[in-house]
This record gives sequence, C-alpha cells and structure tokens, in this order.
Amino acid sequence: MPFNVVEDASTGSDSDYSSTWISWFLSSKGNEYFCEVDEDFILDRFNLTGLNNEVANYSQALDLITDSLDEDIQDELRGSLDVQARLLYGLIHARWIVTARGLQKMLEKYKRADFGRCPRVLCASQPLLPVGLTDIPYEKSVKLYCGRCEDLYSPKSSRHGSIDGAYFGTTFPHLLFLVYPTLLPSKDPETSMHVTGKETNTLGDSRNRRRLREEPEAVTEGGGEGISTASVAMKAERYRPRIYGFQINEIAKLQRWQEAVRDRQIARLEALEEKNP
Ligand SMILES: [Zn+2]
Repeated sequence: MPFNVVEDASTGSDSDYSSTWISWFLSSKGNEYFCEVDEDFILDRFNLTGLNNEVANYSQALDLITDSLDEDIQDELRGSLDVQARLLYGLIHARWIVTARGLQKMLEKYKRADFGRCPRVLCASQPLLPVGLTDIPYEKSVKLYCGRCEDLYSPKSSRHGSIDGAYFGTTFPHLLFLVYPTLLPSKDPETSMHVTGKETNTLGDSRNRRRLREEPEAVTEGGGEGISTASVAMKAERYRPRIYGFQINEIAKLQRWQEAVRDRQIARLEALEEKNP
C-alpha cells in the first residue's frame, strides 16, 4: 500500500498525529508533561536494559509502543497491554529525559511553561519542572520543582497529580540546570522582583548561588540559637535535590575533592620532571 509508505515517511505532520501509539499517548488528555521519546532511543535495546523485569508482557508492550504489535494479539490482550505499555513508556521516558536530546526536548516544554508556574509571589511566575521523589514506579506521584525557591509543588490538575513520579525520576530537573546553568533563576528576591528578563550579571548570579547552596550547611551546624518548632518543621520538609542519588552539595564537594587530588598529582609530576629533566 503506497499510502502507508507516505505515512511512515512523514515526520510529525498533523495528518499522522494519531497514527502512532506514541503520538496518540502524547495527545491524550493528562499526558501533557511527557515529551516524545525518539524512536531510535527505544529501538536501541541497550537503553532498555532491565525494564523487562519491571513490565509484564514486556515484549508485546514494546511492540505496542513501537507500532509493531501483531494484529491477532491486539484484540485479546489490548486492555492489559495498554497499562503495561504506558508503564514501559513512562520508564523509558525517565531514562530519555536525562540524555542530551531528551533534556533538549524537555527544555522546550519548560520554556513554554508546560509544567505550570510557581505559585509563590516572589518567584515571579517561574516555570516549574517535573520531578520524581523516587525512581521506583508505583510509589510517589510526580511533583513540580521550582528552580527559584527550590521547593516542590503538587500539580494543580488531578490528571497530572496522579502521574507516576518515576516517569520523570529524581535527577531530571537538577541535571537540566547543571547542563544549562544560564537557566538557573536568580535566587535574590529583589532581582526577581525588579528584573524581568534573565540578563542579570553572571558574576553576581554565581556568587548568589554559592551563598544559597551553603545555607543549609550553616543551618545544620549552627543550631545553637533558639531552635523554634517552625525551623524544625522546615528542616523536615526541606527537599534535597539529587542527581543520580547524590545530593547536589555532595557532587560539588566530590568535584572539589577530585580537583584537589588532580592538582596535587600535577604538582607531584611537575616536581618529578624538574628533578629528572
Ligand atoms: Zn518558586
């Protein structure tokens, strides 16, 4: 059928918007947080390592999301397969959005504020980013992270509120800001109130960031003066951003340590070379 060939060859035009399982999934109401995972990524089995243990009827679910499911099976299993296919797509999605291409796709959605905006007045409508509190499915629903106040919010709509957080994972928003540091909003409420654009000077910005990153440490160490119930409660609630399970502070510490080791190594080599030219 030449018609099919034309359809397969087209790239995301309106006419084929519901011709594939993925485009149907993305256009379904409530799935607005998800981005399109490149087919190449799904077809590379290396990227899916281990997911066969997480999803029942794995190979059929995979066939369904890649539109290669056998027509005969389709009717019998369709109902339960659909649930498995959504789970599989979600878990693939979590892996995809921390790749360079996936980060880019989510960046476009972030710029359009597809995930909503921070409700805090001082955050000046800062766009939010989805995040999981765990990478294990069926545990916690998705939350929204504000890069400005570093707090978490629940999605406004119940459709979004019931999405599994594992489909976005614990690393994604923090990796996005690490890869695109210029996107990191200014933490100074005064700047955020007076400056509407993102053109704050970068030097002041990074100085600011450093100060804010060090704040939590100062709080835990200097607990001497008047511990109020409120501050204890705030400590308990405080969200700790993580990248692949490492707290961002720890990553910074680890990097400083690695650099110190490297510098010492270089100094030692230079000393050796001086001795034996
Ligand atoms: Zn905020």
